[in-house]
This record gives sequence, structure tokens and C-alpha cells, in this order.
Amino acid sequence: MAIRTEWRIGKKGQLCAGCGKVFPFDVPFHSAIWLEGEAFLRRDLCEACYGAAPGPPFSHWRTTIPRPEDQKRAFDLGLAAEFLRRLAADGTAERAALAHLLALLLVRKRLVRVIDLPAAAGAVPRARVEFHDGHEALEIPAPPLSEEDIPGLREQLGRLLDFGPEGKPEPSVSARPEESSSTGE
Ligand SMILES: [Zn+2]
Repeated sequence: MAIRTEWRIGKKGQLCAGCGKVFPFDVPFHSAIWLEGEAFLRRDLCEACYGAAPGPPFSHWRTTIPRPEDQKRAFDLGLAAEFLRRLAADGTAERAALAHLLALLLVRKRLVRVIDLPAAAGAVPRARVEFHDGHEALEIPAPPLSEEDIPGLREQLGRLLDFGPEGKPEPSVSARPEESSSTGE
């Protein structure tokens, strides 16, 4: 069987990104985030396609499509929590910033609280994230976030996780950020 190289990627879909089968309600499938080059890509895969994936994902979560009466809970805290855990363990400056912003977005959704930890001089500040739903608490790096970095990081997280309609609509999966041009204002 050929390994599929074109995937439908992006936020949680109703279809497997590998074979295109519709996920039945309440049947677990794999929701995972891969690191490819410098970019994170999200794919939701059925059991068979996940087994055939070319390599292990950066972050992984088993999830289900809720029955329609539950669909207001589209945001999957399990995947977000697991992704946060992996980002926090990664140690690079960019992942640290992404982890910090993700934690702050979870605070805004009232899913966690974030407690600043005493900072050692010269070290990256750290914080403790406590989940209200019983996920295990964790420590994350909490570097200062600059105004210019936040939109790009926020956009990345919006593409990976279903944050829902806060502010402007999510760009479509195939949309690429326009080349920034500082001339011609
Ligand atoms: Zn599949």
C-alpha cells in the first residue's frame, strides 16, 4: 500500500486526513501534531492511517467526534494539554513562547490557571499551569511575549487547535500568510 503523501491538514475535521473516511460519532481516532521542518501540521487520522504514518508525531491525542448534542465542546482540551506538555519539554525559545501563549489562551477560556513561579536571576521565567478539569499540572517556560510575535504564534495555535470564534474567523487551511511588505503604506 502506497504511503499517502497528500494530507488534508488543519483543525479537527470530520474526515480522516489519510483515507478520507468520515469519523463515526464516539469512535476514537488519532488527533496529532507533526513537526515538519519548522512548521507544525495537524492531522486527524483513523486507526489504520495513523498506523501507516511515516513517523511519530510531536504531540498526539486520541479523541472522538462528539454526538451533535455535545458539539459545543469542539475545543479538545486533551490535545491542547498534551501539546502544551510537549512544547514545555522542548526547550527552544520559539517553543517556549508558543507554550506561554497557549497557556494564556487556556486561561482566557477559563480552562486553567497560571501561577508565576519564583524566577532565578537571568533565567527564563517559569509558570505552573493547573487544569480545572483534573489534567495533571505542569510547569512551562513563560518568556515575555512581544507584541510583534503574538499574532504569528496565535495564528499557529488557531490552525492547530479549535479555539472557536474568538475575534476574526480562522483562515482556511490552505491560506498562507501574505508576504509582508513594509513598503507602500
Ligand atoms: Zn484513514
